[in-house]
Amino acid sequence: MQVLSSYAAGQWQEGQGEGAPLENPTTGEIVARTGTAGIDMRAVVEHAREVGGPALRRMTFAERAAMLKGLSAAIHEAREELIDMGAVNGGNTRGDAKFDIDGATGTLAAYASFGKRLGDRPFLTDGDGMQLGRTARFWGQHVRVPRRGVAVHINAFNFPAWGMMEKAACALLAGVPVIEKPGTSTALIAWRVAQIVVESGLVPEGAFQFLCGSAGDLLDQLDGQDCVAFTGSAATGMKIKGHENLVRHNVRVNVEADSINAAVLAPDVDSGDEAFGLFVGNVALDMCQKAGQKCTAVRRVLVPSDRVDEVKAELMAELGRHPQGEPQEKGTRLGPVAHSQAHADVREGIGRLSEVADVITGGAEPPRDGCFVSPTLLVARDADAGILHELEVFGPVATIIPYDGSAEHAVDLVNRGEGGLVVSAYSNDASWSESFVLGVAPYHGRVWMGSDRMAEQALPPGMVLPGLVHGGPGRAGGGEELGALRGLEFYTQRTAIQGFKSFVDGTFGAPAE
Ligand code: NAP
Repeated sequence: MQVLSSYAAGQWQEGQGEGAPLENPTTGEIVARTGTAGIDMRAVVEHAREVGGPALRRMTFAERAAMLKGLSAAIHEAREELIDMGAVNGGNTRGDAKFDIDGATGTLAAYASFGKRLGDRPFLTDGDGMQLGRTARFWGQHVRVPRRGVAVHINAFNFPAWGMMEKAACALLAGVPVIEKPGTSTALIAWRVAQIVVESGLVPEGAFQFLCGSAGDLLDQLDGQDCVAFTGSAATGMKIKGHENLVRHNVRVNVEADSINAAVLAPDVDSGDEAFGLFVGNVALDMCQKAGQKCTAVRRVLVPSDRVDEVKAELMAELGRHPQGEPQEKGTRLGPVAHSQAHADVREGIGRLSEVADVITGGAEPPRDGCFVSPTLLVARDADAGILHELEVFGPVATIIPYDGSAEHAVDLVNRGEGGLVVSAYSNDASWSESFVLGVAPYHGRVWMGSDRMAEQALPPGMVLPGLVHGGPGRAGGGEELGALRGLEFYTQRTAIQGFKSFVDGTFGAPAE
């Protein structure tokens, strides 16, 4: 039995005891075990603060950017090996695994490119300086400097590579050492990526540590220079936000939680329009890619009441183009969900949705052995049923919700999700689109508008891009990540420097072009 170790305080360490099992969701076989019992979390945090942080801060932004570029290349070299691991522990089809792994290397490469323009000063100038006194002698300038603590990253099971490296990219570029903790159930890929990072020798000792299993008492060791970026369920996010030690020391916490994402078909889009094809293709893709286990996947599909039958038929036909099967079989586009507990949760969730919606295809009954769930499409009997807007069923499941076609009704229903990561809508009508965007924007981190004019070049709404922010208010956790250099804000302290202009502006003002 393979035992996955942690890279903690400068060495690879196995946890004590039996550890948690990692399963192959296609066969039910246990493929590895891992745990962190016995690892001294205080020593891990001190190692980051005392060894990793200073070493990182001795590097310029441009040097740290070059480090990220090297990491991207090193992980990319192991791409085929990692793709195989994604099938064995996670049930990823080849396409699903690529989405995760290329997401990791692509984000690292993007941050390498954002960072190389930041030059060699140990701080970032933030905005323009301003005159504070009667004359320009008394001057003010905001700067951002790397915080002196450690960034603890707690990740969800669904993106073991991307989830870990998108967070690491921002923190390392900012100059803050990381402690990465993946979701335990699918930690195999994360563990291999961590091995590659450590063996690359590109990251200074102490700047990258990896805890393969429970967080133990890690959060009890943190103080006001540290931060925690969490991705996972709303329930765990709430526990972390309310963690007594984090509250006491005002430790920065960023929560990326779940979200009942919606896709909306506007009434002006006809079945022959490119936007209609885009809508159908994207909804089916979101249901099947990663077996629906994307935080950004569509759960609610709003369709004008008189178009429901037409959309049902088109979506069923499109789902037929995503054959379900063993993840490593050629042609499979829908694998199992990642583990037995996820399987049980999804089936229970379908049962709960079917109390207020009719199952059109799929359902809670497993189609075969292993953690498989048929793609399941439902049609709501009552658009106002609360559960449609509250329950995230984290699998290949979506519900069509009829609405009256107005932007106002769409906005009202969409916003009942109480805060989402992304909402997509499909319309060629600029006036409908503007009302919709302004109505949903306060409740969403991203608003994705599909139309005939952009269809040919569109990346799907479920894809998180390093240059745009990821996160959402309310239910979605209230956090924000990425967004190009915005992603560094969480890891840096904004400080207003006040003093004599020639010192403040000359030292901290924007560098000459
Ligand atoms: P989860 O059960 O909440 O676990 C997330 C992470 O938190 C795991 O690493 C878990 O460790 C850890 N954890 C659990 N309890 C903890 C505690 N008391 N203290 C510290 N860490 C703790 O979520 P999941 O099942 O892995 O992920 C699925 C959920 O994540 C879905 O709801 C999905 O929507 C959401 N998600 C959101 C985003 C986003 O960006 N907004 C992205 C991906 C997923 P163990 O694995 O060791 O239990």
